[in-house]
Amino acid sequence: MTVTQSLTKHLKNPELFVDLAGVPNAQEATKRFSVFNPSTGELLAELPDMDAADVSKAIDKADAAQELWAALTARERSDMLWEWHQLILIHSEDLAAILTAEMGKPLAEAKSEIAHAAAYLQWYAEEANRIYGETISPPSNDRRMLVIKQPIGVVGAITPWNFPASMVARKISPALAAGCAIVLKPAEQTPLVAGAMFTLARMAGFPDGVLNLIYASQGDAVGRELCSNPKVRKISFTGSTEVGRLLMRQCSDQIKRTSFELGGNAPFIVFDDADVDAAVEGAIQAKFRNAGQTCVSANRLYVQSSVYDEFAKKFTERVRALRVGDGFVPDVAIGPLIDTCALAKIEDHVGDAVRKGGKIRCGGSRIGKSGTFFEPTVITEVERTMRVAQEETFGPLAPLIRFNDPDQVVREANDTIYGLAAYFYASNLKRVWRVAEALEYGMVGINTGRMSSEAAPFGGMKQSGIGREGSRHGLEDYLEMKYLCMGGL
Ligand code: NAP
Repeated sequence: MTVTQSLTKHLKNPELFVDLAGVPNAQEATKRFSVFNPSTGELLAELPDMDAADVSKAIDKADAAQELWAALTARERSDMLWEWHQLILIHSEDLAAILTAEMGKPLAEAKSEIAHAAAYLQWYAEEANRIYGETISPPSNDRRMLVIKQPIGVVGAITPWNFPASMVARKISPALAAGCAIVLKPAEQTPLVAGAMFTLARMAGFPDGVLNLIYASQGDAVGRELCSNPKVRKISFTGSTEVGRLLMRQCSDQIKRTSFELGGNAPFIVFDDADVDAAVEGAIQAKFRNAGQTCVSANRLYVQSSVYDEFAKKFTERVRALRVGDGFVPDVAIGPLIDTCALAKIEDHVGDAVRKGGKIRCGGSRIGKSGTFFEPTVITEVERTMRVAQEETFGPLAPLIRFNDPDQVVREANDTIYGLAAYFYASNLKRVWRVAEALEYGMVGINTGRMSSEAAPFGGMKQSGIGREGSRHGLEDYLEMKYLCMGGL
């Protein structure tokens, strides 16, 4: 058995995606692992469980394809990315259904993620044609000096479960545009949409060996092989800071290039000159999208005293109205958490906050005895000593912290090892510029709760990562700079 009827019943073209286990590289594995729907517990698929030896073979294939892929013209690589982009748009409803089935997010959010994934392919199909070097004025006339950009080589890519389509596209598309072959390992819990995207990539005509998929339940074994195999020239990882640290250590022996998109602990600050209604809407987006399971999720909401009560009242009303359930049910805004560990973490954060004086304004409990649904929750009177104000919750829990001093709140917002995303609402222009420049974050949303775009550099400072994905900067992460000097002229 590969893909079950629990999945194919949601698809328009089930015949296209029914054998996701049959991807090249995967056929040799003898063990299997299962993928379940987190909303219903239904079995969706059984996939080959690849080990380090299988990863090594996939790396060999990528290495064999690398020279040919790099030798194509930028236009030829661009054309294939365009074709893949088109196929993803054509099959976007099926891709969204696969995503909702394996990850649980509401179907509307899944559709928006597939559109976002396709947008990265489009962006880098265009960007592939804009890889520029430079000429340098030489210090003497007997020589010429220039810089060319070349692909870094085979890339090992590892992606998380929370955005299983867009994280894949955001990594793979600049690498392919730059001329790098790829070995990708998606998360164990959500490998199916990546498998479906690879099926479409084969239809788009990418040469054999350029795109290699690893299905595996043992992420650590795959990671060790990718980091230690000298044929892999770069590791690109999106996931937790903890695993990022480990991979960085493993890459150090070979001084391997790395890009890391890691965890966050985003502050969301509402100043007294903010449009409170707009801030409430922004906070709903920044906190509750994907049930709070996003790296840029607003994790600590700071609200200035004079607007605190108004914000808390309006925000709580909006949160109470969010419908929780199976992502395939229309109007559901909050799906399940990915697993019981995620549920336990949010319960710990609620319990700790309440013990230390936090007040639950709505929610606060899991829904039902089985499953992983949790009520959208607002806690007020939160203090910085509470775990919810220190750690990434990764769930639908919004802690509201009261503040009086606008300078102190920025210092508090920066007082974390993370530096991925921050948000604030204010209208005074002097304040807007001062705060935007003072926040130590790779991305700052000003009067908006949503800022991801293929056109912008996504990434973090401090322990939230190294490098950027998206925009023209995302391409640079997959290119080596080479200086050429011709003398004797
Ligand atoms: P995770 O546990 O770090 O897992 C991410 C990926 O790494 C999965 O494919 C996982 O495989 C693999 N992995 C786990 N242990 C590994 C090891 N020892 N060696 C190599 N690979 C290993 O993170 P997650 O729980 O899936 O994702 C949530 C985290 O990702 C959050 O912290 C979130 O903030 C962060 N995130 C960051 C961004 C960003 O752009 N900055 C975007 C999305 C998510 P298995 O599934 O097989 O364990």
